[in-house]
Amino acid sequence: MKVFMRIINKASDIKAPRQVQQKLKSKWFIGLDKATVKSLESMSAEEFFPKACQRILKPTGIPEKCYPPVVFEDLSRFHSQAIAAYDLCENYLSASTKFLKRSSAKKFATCSHELTHYVQSVNIYRTAGLGEEAVKKYSSELAKEGNVSYEAAYSKLENLRKNLVAEMGEISPDSKEGKRAKKLFTEFISDSRPEAAEREAHRKRNLAYFEYLYAKFFK
Ligand SMILES: [Zn+2]
Repeated sequence: MKVFMRIINKASDIKAPRQVQQKLKSKWFIGLDKATVKSLESMSAEEFFPKACQRILKPTGIPEKCYPPVVFEDLSRFHSQAIAAYDLCENYLSASTKFLKRSSAKKFATCSHELTHYVQSVNIYRTAGLGEEAVKKYSSELAKEGNVSYEAAYSKLENLRKNLVAEMGEISPDSKEGKRAKKLFTEFISDSRPEAAEREAHRKRNLAYFEYLYAKFFK
């Protein structure tokens, strides 16, 4: 009986890591490997930010030419403790000096949170009818701020929308994805906190955090 148990244990020893890995592949979102983490760890925070974003966006299928620019800027206009932000209307990602002081796993997780808002935004652009509406809405918001004309903002965002649709296809407004995009857009343009959008970003943030640490220490 003891021998039998040992055989069973040996068999499960072999199978378990593979099963776990398969589970991780389906559940975790980017399949990060140790070499990538090692390479990210060797970078300065200035280099880390764009590289981590590229890595996070890789499995989304979004063409690289549509990736949002990433910059460092003072974000105290949002909150004194603001670490990073995705600008929905201007489509760019920014990090404050507070970002530089975080651990690499937390930096990675922060990128994942903000990029989730970018991906949400991409799905809005790709949804038939809704995408056009979003381009007009964001352009008029930008024109109101006064730094850019409506026409200039419109042509830039419409170009982004057209590229996304051409490369990734349109989402039907009646599909599950389309309805979700509509819900998120309604949240984004309302004055209250976008609860559903934030919930998803927070979940992706946590996944990225644990996936980064898992790749760093266990893979
Ligand atoms: Zn957020």
